[in-house]
Amino acid sequence: MRVGRVACPGSFDPVTNGHLDIIRRAALLHDEVIVVVGANLAKHGLFTVEERVSMLEEVTSDLPNVSVGTFRGLLVDFCRSNGVSAIVKGLRAVSDFEYEMEMAQMNYRLAQIETLFMTANPLYSFLRSSLVREIATYGGDITSLVPGPVEKRLRAKLAAPGQD
Ligand code: ADP
Repeated sequence: MRVGRVACPGSFDPVTNGHLDIIRRAALLHDEVIVVVGANLAKHGLFTVEERVSMLEEVTSDLPNVSVGTFRGLLVDFCRSNGVSAIVKGLRAVSDFEYEMEMAQMNYRLAQIETLFMTANPLYSFLRSSLVREIATYGGDITSLVPGPVEKRLRAKLAAPGQD
């Protein structure tokens, strides 16, 4: 089966260079990529869903076949109602494998939605949003970890939480 439209789901709190690497590579392989921000647990995060979407839109604006959306509830329902035939996920290390395998098998069982895995770029295999937030909180250098506009938004958010 040819995959036309795929989804890259995640929390993206905030989007990192590791996410962006997967999104770019997915956009080279598939006709359309929808990056979807999961809103179920978003209230426990640092950025609001709207802020995450707006950062994703900014950093993917040079990729014409990439769009950004949100989902609440089950990802497979989003896929079904948006004509998405496969989910694309990045695998960083063995530690990602067990959880991702479980989700992939359950999503297939629920809705026959396939999951395609791409191995992380070794430059970013240690990179996750929570680590970026922690490094930024304590004043560490995150320049090579997130796109420039995200670094700016992160610094502003940490300097004045709730006002950004
Ligand atoms: P996290 O909070 O761990 O950064 P998300 O829930 O936003 O991640 O991740 C969404 C998807 O992006 C997952 O499939 C995850 O494996 C993938 N991903 C996250 N960081 C990276 C990375 N550094 N390299 C490759 N894939 C990644």
